[in-house]
Amino acid sequence: MQVWIDQDCCTGAGLCVDRCPDLFVVLEDGLGYVYDGGVVVTDPARASHVPSRYEDDAVDAAEHCPGECIYLEAEPLTPQLDDADILDADVVVDPI
Ligand code: SF4
Repeated sequence: MQVWIDQDCCTGAGLCVDRCPDLFVVLEDGLGYVYDGGVVVTDPARASHVPSRYEDDAVDAAEHCPGECIYLEAEPLTPQLDDADILDADVVVDPI
C-alpha cells in the first residue's frame, strides 16, 4: 500500500497525526504530510510506501480525513522478467 496527501485540500486538522503519528505530520505551514522513514515527503507527486503495521491506521485516517485528501493506492507492480529471462526466451514464429 502507498499513501500520499493532496495538500491543496488539507484543512490542517491533524486527525491523521492523531491516528498515526509515525506516518503523518502537520508542519508549520499547517498542512498534513506523509512522514516516510523519518523524512517528510513534500513532493506532491510522490506516494510513499506504508509499512504493513501502519496500514489499518492509514485506512482509518483516510476514511476520517475532513479534507478527504489522503489517498491510498496499491503498490505498483514490479516487472517479473530480468535481462536473463529475455535473452533466454524462445522466439516463436507463427507458421503460415
Ligand atoms: S487529516 Fe486530512 S485534512 Fe487533516 S491534516 Fe491530515 S491530511 Fe490534512
